[in-house]
Amino acid sequence: MTSALRPTGSTRRWRQLRAPFARHLTDVGPLPCRRCGEPITAAMRWHLGHPDHAPRALGGDDTDLWPEHDDCSTKAGARLGNHLRRLYAAGRSPDTMTTPPPSRDW
Ligand SMILES: [Zn+2]
Repeated sequence: MTSALRPTGSTRRWRQLRAPFARHLTDVGPLPCRRCGEPITAAMRWHLGHPDHAPRALGGDDTDLWPEHDDCSTKAGARLGNHLRRLYAAGRSPDTMTTPPPSRDW
């Protein structure tokens, strides 16, 4: 049996979800980053991100996906991870989770 995973870790389904956005960036032009609103161009590293209210870690599905800058997406993921760790450490479950607090860029 062969895996659908590529060395990048993406699956065929994920590449299919990403493809229309990648085509838009190449053929039409920049899209605004979900996190910061600044343009993402085809030459930039970007991720297809989930909205804050439906991350995969909390059972979110793959609807409402949108491009995010590499850095913006990584920071949002770290913020979510930290938030979940604090909840678990406090003995609370993620179903009591509210949206992670916004980052403070100093
Ligand atoms: Zn961004």
